[in-house]
Amino acid sequence: MSLALQLYRLQQIDSRLNQVTTRLSAIQALLENNAELQAARQILESARTEQHEAEKVLKTAEYTANSQRVKLEQVESSLYSGKIQNPKELQDLQNEIAALKRHLAILEDNQLEAMLAAEAANAKLAEAQEDLQVTHGKVIGENAALQTEQNSLQKESDNLNAQRLAVLPVISADVLELYDSLRQKRSGMAVSQVIENSCDTCGSSLTPGYAQSVRTSAQLVHCPMCGRILYSN
Ligand SMILES: [Zn+2]
Repeated sequence: MSLALQLYRLQQIDSRLNQVTTRLSAIQALLENNAELQAARQILESARTEQHEAEKVLKTAEYTANSQRVKLEQVESSLYSGKIQNPKELQDLQNEIAALKRHLAILEDNQLEAMLAAEAANAKLAEAQEDLQVTHGKVIGENAALQTEQNSLQKESDNLNAQRLAVLPVISADVLELYDSLRQKRSGMAVSQVIENSCDTCGSSLTPGYAQSVRTSAQLVHCPMCGRILYSN
């Protein structure tokens, strides 16, 4: 197989690969940027933040109420220890216990409130998680056609990449460099077919001798007009 033909085949692979890759990115964007899915993700995110906050508030409320209980137990145990006999001191302790209990009641109310808020936040989070799953399933259903296309394009892309890897070893590095720079400069077409003694891409006509050299030369022959590598079958 001539070098020009190898490059022509590589170009067919690369051109198709470009189309496939562009379409795959577009499909990916369509699948990811679904507005409904994004909204469901956002709701889940804020439910998660709220739940986190509620847990923190509950932990603090639990800690504060527990500290108060410990304090109360300490004062009660000194009251019932029998070590304090002085009626004035006993009265003071009883007053202190009453004050501690009153404050504990407030703290326990706070704790209960925080517990209810945490439960509500947990339920909201679970609901948001379920909603996201449902929306996800729905969007997948709606996007079934896109996904089928995505799967088949992905297979084609794998296949093209394998073909590319098979072609590459027979092309030298400097020729590959030439091919790549021509593709960049010449709208993705580095190689042009010769059809009826003309460059099929730019349309310029070639002398019969020139067209003949494309077929017979061991070197790469370029179109005199557009500079693309010519290939003739
Ligand atoms: Zn040309």
